[in-house]
Order: sequence, then structure tokens, then C-alpha cells
Amino acid sequence: MIAVARGDGPRVLPGSLLTLRRKCGKPGFLCATGSPHETPALSFSVGVRTKMFALLPDEVPVAATGVTRYPEVAPSR
Ligand SMILES: [Zn+2]
Repeated sequence: MIAVARGDGPRVLPGSLLTLRRKCGKPGFLCATGSPHETPALSFSVGVRTKMFALLPDEVPVAATGVTRYPEVAPSR
């Protein structure tokens, strides 16, 4: 599990959900013919760095909830 589940505070993520698209390069896979794999992921900033986690399907709703709640509690930048 990712950082989403850690800590005892509210599950708030200063990040955004995105979809990674990549090609593994293996012949015979759809990606080889122009249809890249789509992987849900969460990106967020830690200091000046941006971290990215690939999400398991059952982690997406958790991450989405965290991202959605973030604007409610975070000071505006
Ligand atoms: Zn592939």
C-alpha cells in the first residue's frame, strides 16, 4: 500500500490522479500496435520533487477520495 494509508490524520493527498500510458515493448501485446497500457497513478509533490505511485485498482477510490478532500483543508497557494 502507498502513503495513502499511513498516518492517523485525514487521508489527504496534495496530488492528483492521472493515468500512465506506457508500452512494455513485448511483441504480441496491444501496446506493440499502438495501444499503450493504462495504469492509474497518483502524483504528488514532496517539497520540490514530484512523486508518482502506480495504483492498484482497489487503491484508486481511496486515492480519489484523498485528492478530492485536499482542497477543503489545504491553504490556498
Ligand atoms: Zn505491453
